[in-house]
Amino acid sequence: MTETRTHCPYCSLQCGMTLAREGRRLEVRAWPEFPVNEGALCRKGWTATGLRGHRERLTTPLLRDRATGELRAASWDEALDLVADRLRALQAAHGPDTVAVFGGGGLTNEKAYQLGKLARVALRTSRIDYNGRWCMSSAASAANQAFGIDRGLPFPLADVEDTDVLVLVGSNLAETMPPAARHLDRLRANGGHVVVVDPRRTPTADRADTFLQPVPGTDLALSLGLLHLLDAAGAVDEEYVAARTTGLDAARRTAAAWWPERVERVTGVPVAELRVLAERLAAAGRVTVLTARGAEQHAQGTATVLGWINVALALGMPGRPHAGYGCLTGQGNGQGGREHGQKSDQLPGYRMIDDPAAREHVARVWGVEPASLPGKGLSAYELLESLGTGSRALLVFGSNIVVSAPNATHVAERLAALDLLVVADLVLSETAAMADVVLPVTQWAEETGTMTNLEGRVVLRERAVAPPDGVRSDLDVIAGLAARLGSPGVFATDPEEVFAELGRASAGGRADYAGISYDRIRAEHGVFWPCPTPEHPGTSRLFAASFATPDGRARCVDVDHAGPAEPLDVAYPVHLTTGRVLAQYQSGAQTRRVRELPDDGPFVELHPMLADRIGAHDGEPVVVSTRRGQLTAPARVVATIRPDTVFVPFHWVGANRLTHDALDPMSGMPEFKVCAAAVGLDTPSLVPRDGYSTTERAS
Ligand code: SF4
Repeated sequence: MTETRTHCPYCSLQCGMTLAREGRRLEVRAWPEFPVNEGALCRKGWTATGLRGHRERLTTPLLRDRATGELRAASWDEALDLVADRLRALQAAHGPDTVAVFGGGGLTNEKAYQLGKLARVALRTSRIDYNGRWCMSSAASAANQAFGIDRGLPFPLADVEDTDVLVLVGSNLAETMPPAARHLDRLRANGGHVVVVDPRRTPTADRADTFLQPVPGTDLALSLGLLHLLDAAGAVDEEYVAARTTGLDAARRTAAAWWPERVERVTGVPVAELRVLAERLAAAGRVTVLTARGAEQHAQGTATVLGWINVALALGMPGRPHAGYGCLTGQGNGQGGREHGQKSDQLPGYRMIDDPAAREHVARVWGVEPASLPGKGLSAYELLESLGTGSRALLVFGSNIVVSAPNATHVAERLAALDLLVVADLVLSETAAMADVVLPVTQWAEETGTMTNLEGRVVLRERAVAPPDGVRSDLDVIAGLAARLGSPGVFATDPEEVFAELGRASAGGRADYAGISYDRIRAEHGVFWPCPTPEHPGTSRLFAASFATPDGRARCVDVDHAGPAEPLDVAYPVHLTTGRVLAQYQSGAQTRRVRELPDDGPFVELHPMLADRIGAHDGEPVVVSTRRGQLTAPARVVATIRPDTVFVPFHWVGANRLTHDALDPMSGMPEFKVCAAAVGLDTPSLVPRDGYSTTERAS
């Protein structure tokens, strides 16, 4: 029996767990000493070994046969030679940007770093971005503007247990990361008050003392209404604002126009509830505001987060113990993934790619000339939009775009227009099934690497078992391609060696990992960045003395509510919003294949009043339509959702055929969380499990 301390393969909590191996048997056990989850896991974590030995696991490269159009097995040399040859030929004919790279928020820091280096050094393309753009980028953009630094939580998650009022805006953490819900329970046991803001009464809302149920896409108006009331009541902490912030006056002037009755008209939140919440916030000594995807995945996502940061700053909270603002990041390495070079505008260490000093530093570590590094590229959705015209080849690592992209039918068309699609994955995901070349790579537990959790804590996922024969790590694949492309620089394949290089590349940057090592992570239950030297203790709490802006003050940014990009009308009279369910994770490429996790397929959650209006009963098939597509799925009739809103989970093909591709101008975040839809009855007894309508399946 061997035991390995590691972390869950899924969400940003990165729960610690023990993998016990005896012969071929691998079992998940608790790791009670790891502080973030104290031994608790959700059912996804407990069943995380379910993909091991799965019959759909890929163990050989696949090439699409030109004659038959089918995928056929190939050797690694044949596959990598073909990819390199075709990339070289395309770049010779059309320039470096004809090759694009798409990464994922589930990749380890080492892979994300190496993928960015592959793009900038070996391919010299500016076209690299990742699916984390669709996850936390609005909160990242807002935090950078307000605080000068983007770390999901600027404090350990357990700090919320001792706040007085915790406001959760658009977060369903009790269902998406259940071990985190213990902090809400302890907060309440300590006498604290939990406020949940969500269009659906979720399991998280069931744990709340106050629940506000606004119209989807109006969280910014709600924050403006609160700032209005706090200001009118004299509850702004003037001393703090004068000493530690700039810009609140302009934000106050905008909020002055958001009197409570107007807020009620826009958000649907009654004036009385708004006033009670404002009074509670004004009276509290410690207030913590946390946002998540419900507030952030909008064309005004950055502005929405800035609106809530303004509330926290007006109350004088950020930087105080057990108070402030934070973002609950989503994907396993959504935080680290954006710090080390997968984002189109960033180099390792959260350095900006258009900063000459940053280019100089990173180029020196990489052993190339700064001028050889490309400039800023396109955000994730813009990159996909450019496929077939701007870029003719795409390399995908750790992302299932066909399921997770907004306006997914259009995105699938762009993928189909490529000359070359290469996908590295564990299984034949919906995106891999479209590829010309599929490269089978290692999964969690078969490889070592670091992740950065939602607190900015860098943790180590240790290898516990050997991968199946025929499978290679992403680091091997990247190195193999770099060598065939004749790249300058060294592409190491040992994760610890890559991490040491990442540390050097990040040194002096905003996300400084230079003082972190695998040994330290093992000994200290993770290390918080920034950590510039081996002697530095790491930084668990930010902003106590100053913010990371040039003058050390936080910025209150003046923002105003504009409403969703696609308003309701007669043809599309209800709001569609999307989200997650407990047993599935992201595009479901992994969790849908774990036998122990229920895979009930998509459903349409709607209120009894709306169900009555269209004549639908619980369990009957209904059709949700938007201007972009249709989904047929069973109705789930519940009184916990607003009567003007329907909800569809996004883990299956279908939900994102409906969603809108309007982008936040500051973050590039698509408007996943609200669009205009129609809902009606479908032919009974033909309910598909895969999200395709009956006619689509037939065709
Ligand atoms: Fe894994 Fe997240 Fe569940 Fe923890 S909460 S076990 S990290 S999926």
